[in-house]
Amino acid sequence: MTRLVTLLILVSITACTTSPTGRSQLMLVSPEEAITASKQAYTQTLKPLSDKGKIDNDPVVTRRVKLITGRLISQAIEKFPHTRRWDWSVKVIDDPEVVNAWCMAGGKMAIYTGLLHKVKPTDDELAQVMGHEIAHALANHTAEKMSVAMASQLGMAAIAVAANDSEYRGAALTGAALAATYAVQMPNSRTAEREADQMGIELAAKAGYDPYAAATLWDKMAKVGGSSPPEFLSTHPSPGNRQATLRQLAPNMMPYYKNRKGRPVYPL
Ligand SMILES: [Zn+2]
Repeated sequence: MTRLVTLLILVSITACTTSPTGRSQLMLVSPEEAITASKQAYTQTLKPLSDKGKIDNDPVVTRRVKLITGRLISQAIEKFPHTRRWDWSVKVIDDPEVVNAWCMAGGKMAIYTGLLHKVKPTDDELAQVMGHEIAHALANHTAEKMSVAMASQLGMAAIAVAANDSEYRGAALTGAALAATYAVQMPNSRTAEREADQMGIELAAKAGYDPYAAATLWDKMAKVGGSSPPEFLSTHPSPGNRQATLRQLAPNMMPYYKNRKGRPVYPL
């Protein structure tokens, strides 16, 4: 136990970085390690779905998601040039019951058809979903969550449970890839949520999407569910006054949104 405390103190000295909004982050896993692990996690997550024909099987939906996401990625690269080297990707997973979307470290994304069918987002609202997800990756939230998981015995126990889960059994995931998979399934902190909201609405406005759609998206999301809340809401807990904060941010985003310069689309 003492060794663990010593380790954590050492880690807190040596492994903290600062997020794009100026917050201190615990980083046991470097962003590069998180990207490598996420690549493996992404392949392993998608493979069984692809085998069942559940990936990108509606060309109209796929085209819509790729166009919106491609515009957001162009803006992400503009603001964070190092992400030009990322192997960006987005896949539409055909599962009408799952209301979810995520972006792993390094820009590996997925959105489930349940989110499209149940939330029925407009293009502006869908851009807010993907912009928010991209922001989590830009702010290294995957690496941060992997670090938190690895630093806590609870987290490691959860990873071990995930390893025994039928979904992952036989998948031969490395510990780090398992932590990367787990990271997109565990809730973000409310602080990380606020950060992703703030960065996401800006990316979306710069990509040509109405900033007022950020608040209406979360309004719609909150109305979906019934007996069980959408996965998206459990992994993205609401910071207090989320919609009100987003509405307050919107006027400052209008100049980006109204700027009629070209909206480049990153090819996906
Ligand atoms: Zn989030």
